[in-house]
Amino acid sequence: MSEIAPLSPTYSVARAAFLTAATAAGASITTFDHPLRGPHDEALGIDVAELGRVDSPAVVLVVSATHGVEGYCGSALQTHWLTHHLSGRPADIRVVNIHALNPYGMAWVRRVNEDNVDLNRNFVDWSQPVPSNTDYDGIADIVGPAEWSSESQQRTLEALLALVGEWGFQKMQSVVSGGQYSHPKGVFYGGAGPVWSHHWLRDWCTANLSSAERVVIIDIHTGLGPWGHGELIGSTETGEPMFERARALWPDATSVLAGDSVSAVTAGDWLNIADELAPHAEVTPICIEFGTVDGVTVLQSLRADAWLHGHGDPTGTDAPAIRAQVRSAFADDDPAWIATCWPRFYDVLSAAFGT
Ligand SMILES: [Zn+2]
Repeated sequence: MSEIAPLSPTYSVARAAFLTAATAAGASITTFDHPLRGPHDEALGIDVAELGRVDSPAVVLVVSATHGVEGYCGSALQTHWLTHHLSGRPADIRVVNIHALNPYGMAWVRRVNEDNVDLNRNFVDWSQPVPSNTDYDGIADIVGPAEWSSESQQRTLEALLALVGEWGFQKMQSVVSGGQYSHPKGVFYGGAGPVWSHHWLRDWCTANLSSAERVVIIDIHTGLGPWGHGELIGSTETGEPMFERARALWPDATSVLAGDSVSAVTAGDWLNIADELAPHAEVTPICIEFGTVDGVTVLQSLRADAWLHGHGDPTGTDAPAIRAQVRSAFADDDPAWIATCWPRFYDVLSAAFGT
């Protein structure tokens, strides 16, 4: 097995490596331009690389950067697979690699998108009132303070840790990361309507999955769980067909709703509505979550990032250190980390192929 390359330093480098690998693999490539630019004025877009017949009834979809910055890992895994492991693809399966579903977040080294929206809180039913999170409302100023001096960081972190003592970790995780729809500058914000990547995903699936009969989706995430460990997380209840199909492919899949996962129960996860994306097909979605650092370090990076983009200057002098903080929380540049993630991803993908 060839050693996996280190994580790319920027979105543009990751994108170029992916496109080079996809081209060499003979994939058919389609690019969808994003309307905004990256921090170095670089163009942004979603790149789709497809192998296999477009009318194949069996499709495996691999998605990176639903949570922007988490795409440095996902991109590396996609590129390594395209470069070295194509021979593992059964000829009758159409394999679709979607590179950077949230390209803005990946380029700006943010988990969220151009609207400060967490894409996995944005797939709620927008014809209904949004979920309320009154506990978040009560602590919004502590989670996302308008000032980010060392004094305010210290004071608000102590207040949050005191709340963990009062509420317990599980409730705290659920209040802070479960999703909220009333504080656009806060963390885990779900938005005020479907965002650009949300529209794109629905449109692409409608246009491209009509002849699919079976669709397996692997959505690559980072930032939760033990270092380098790839937990498989399903968004639906155990017992539901979508979850049970996932467990048949991957016996160690956990359900976020069963309380046995590293993730809190969240609203608006796109995998939760994956069956709507290909209504004629049997859809089997799974999230793979590679651990990095501890939860407090992750949350501190997200709070700093929310401050930078909500109250500070994302192109100013505070930006490089905060971007580095977010990157290290979600994309470990130690080559041993991605080398640990790779064999797990390979096994998960092989199981999706039925090999
Ligand atoms: Zn994620």
